[in-house]
Amino acid sequence: MWYVINDMKMKIIQHLVVVALLVVAQWCGVAAVAQPAAVFTQDTISDALLARMRKGGSWKAETPVALRAELRYLRIQHWDADGQPQVGEMVVNQRIADRVLRIFRKLYEAGYRVERMRLVDDYGADDEAAMQDNNTSCFNFRFIAHTKKISKHGSGLAIDLNPLYNPCVKATGNGANDIQPAAGRPYAFNRQRRKDIPYKIDRKDLAYKFFIADGFTWGGAWRSLKDYQHFEFPQ
Ligand SMILES: [Zn+2]
Repeated sequence: MWYVINDMKMKIIQHLVVVALLVVAQWCGVAAVAQPAAVFTQDTISDALLARMRKGGSWKAETPVALRAELRYLRIQHWDADGQPQVGEMVVNQRIADRVLRIFRKLYEAGYRVERMRLVDDYGADDEAAMQDNNTSCFNFRFIAHTKKISKHGSGLAIDLNPLYNPCVKATGNGANDIQPAAGRPYAFNRQRRKDIPYKIDRKDLAYKFFIADGFTWGGAWRSLKDYQHFEFPQ
């Protein structure tokens, strides 16, 4: 009779039901783990941004005009201290823009935490204040002391990552040390053995691995001083 369902038809129906369930399950699964669209963009320095950098102080009176064409404004998705997605800002040299976006995209995909990523202009271009706030940043124009050579940060070729917990440590003689930021002193010593330092950068750290793999060098490997937050691109 017409309504008799033979074995073959039954198998086809069962198959269709299973496929339908799989499609629904996958759709629910994707919906459950939906992430905000990740932002990783680069642009040239607009007039408005240049005005902001002049006012904030990362762009100084002595900054060569030609540097503007070399710089790029990045927007970078990252996970903050609470594990919330944020879109940070960074000004870097165009020579490293693609690399920096690639590195931070990989860090984002790995769940790596970067507490804050604002332009140093939000701190009046005061490095100490920005580092104390654990702000990750790159460009802040300056010459190397007593020279007319532009520093790595002044060229937008160095990045300081989670700097409060990865301070710059410089021996000043007689067992004394200069720590930048000063508030980073609790995280400055015996770092290799310690497991109580959040955001710790060492040779096992994922950021270290990604920066090194993309051609950067690490300030934590220097001998004259240890700059654990600092990654720079060779000239
Ligand atoms: Zn640095």
